[in-house]
Amino acid sequence: MAALPVFRWHLAPDGYATRRQLRAAGLRPGGQEVAAQLERPRRRRGPLVAHLYRVDLAVPVRPMTPARWAALAKANAARRLCPQCRRDAGYVIPASLGMCVPCAYPDPADSSRSA
Ligand SMILES: [Zn+2]
Repeated sequence: MAALPVFRWHLAPDGYATRRQLRAAGLRPGGQEVAAQLERPRRRRGPLVAHLYRVDLAVPVRPMTPARWAALAKANAARRLCPQCRRDAGYVIPASLGMCVPCAYPDPADSSRSA
């Protein structure tokens, strides 16, 4: 097994958190292996070691509640809103287009029918 990356105390990179930090955010490691560790040097003793876990692999401590699903749906709905026509496209607006597909590729037959 490859050696774990070791970071100095307070210098943990973004995306990593200790079990305690995950817990504060309502997350738990979720069965993942320790991803890295922090070491804090101590006098006359070995360094204090804290295990770091990847935040992107962490899972919620509690199961999703209706309120949490609603909050997630609201966030997703915002990503489905076309900035061009202000309508819910029904899918996440592709970043490459920046707008819904009908706006990006207007259908001449469709516009003549509605006009
Ligand atoms: Zn649109």
